[in-house]
Amino acid sequence: MPRIVFDQVSKSYGAVEVLPPFDLHLDDGEFTVLVGPSGCGKSTTLRMLAGLETLSGGEIFFDDTPISKLDPKERDLAMVFQDYALYPHMNIAKNMSFALRLARVSKSEIETKVQRVAEMLNIAHLLDRKPAELSGGQRQRVAMGRALVRDAGTFLFDEPLSNLDAKLRGKMRAELAEMRDTIDKNMVYVTHDQVEAMTLGDRIVVMSDGFIQQQGTPEELFKAPVNKFVAGFIGAPTMNFVDGDLVDEKGTLWVRGDGFALPLTADAGQRLAAAKDRAVTVGLRPSSFTTDLTQGAPIELKVVVSEYLGAQSVLVTRCGGAEILVETQSASPVRSGTEQTFGVLTDEIMIFDKTSGLRL
Ligand code: ADP
Ligand code: MG
Repeated sequence: MPRIVFDQVSKSYGAVEVLPPFDLHLDDGEFTVLVGPSGCGKSTTLRMLAGLETLSGGEIFFDDTPISKLDPKERDLAMVFQDYALYPHMNIAKNMSFALRLARVSKSEIETKVQRVAEMLNIAHLLDRKPAELSGGQRQRVAMGRALVRDAGTFLFDEPLSNLDAKLRGKMRAELAEMRDTIDKNMVYVTHDQVEAMTLGDRIVVMSDGFIQQQGTPEELFKAPVNKFVAGFIGAPTMNFVDGDLVDEKGTLWVRGDGFALPLTADAGQRLAAAKDRAVTVGLRPSSFTTDLTQGAPIELKVVVSEYLGAQSVLVTRCGGAEILVETQSASPVRSGTEQTFGVLTDEIMIFDKTSGLRL
């Protein structure tokens, strides 16, 4: 399986440039997820890789070989689309083996491959049925299976789970995550769902408005987002953002805003020294709060809504004029309508430039 390199690839439709020139390196054997809001250019990127869309500029390489002039079928790829039409009159085995039969693969080899993939996807008992006799999730699995039997070097998935209901999506996501570890192939997976991206990706490419915002492991994106967009996009519930000012008080850098003042760690203080007295945006993840006041810096919040979920509570609170979502691990419910002091884990505070959105 090849290493895939996008070199200054761009795409315009007429006069509209939807993807300005970008570089992207996908290591072999990796599960890469392209994630971003609808319309940001994920499918276009995938379709250029598949050969279903021409490039307006740049080149795509498989190892050192340029491939942009190759036909889709010369690229050793298999693709699963969002709208996976199965052939209604063919049974599942025939649906799955369609491409192999076109390629004149021997009957015994087809049987072996279909059986192996069907077992992996848990649909071996359905091979004689017609698509209409299957549930949505089972049909989705057949669509995956149809691509997987092809033994390509690279598999492309364009929002394959987006037509399923939330519960089924969760189940399929878990199954895919398990399958991912058994298939040593290039996988490039497109989704708008950050949870899918985080659970499936070895590496995640976050896109918005035709630009790659950041690439990294799930952990890198969560812990060290480069800007406010990535910080707000990755992680659920989403990060809280409030306005603040950086002020130096006796050698400690504090971030102050409407109704709060939080000291930054010594490390952050050093890194941010140059930004002193600057207006910033403060990012606080809901999980960066604690009810254990021996940890973290105190912050006074008015609890507006309290949802007690047993092991944790999700709270909608107010701090000055801002609404702040808080997740706590406290064993007992937090009463709504009360003012309460919480702890903020100061090493998790993120500071963004208010204008550019870049993390400082
Ligand atoms: P995503 O998959 O991230 O939702 P797409 O790659 O489908 O986004 O689309 C990116 C942008 O390109 C969108 O603004 C979309 O409207 C535009 N676009 C996609 N296909 C075409 C096309 N065939 N003609 C003109 N514009 C298109
Ligand atoms: Mg798309």
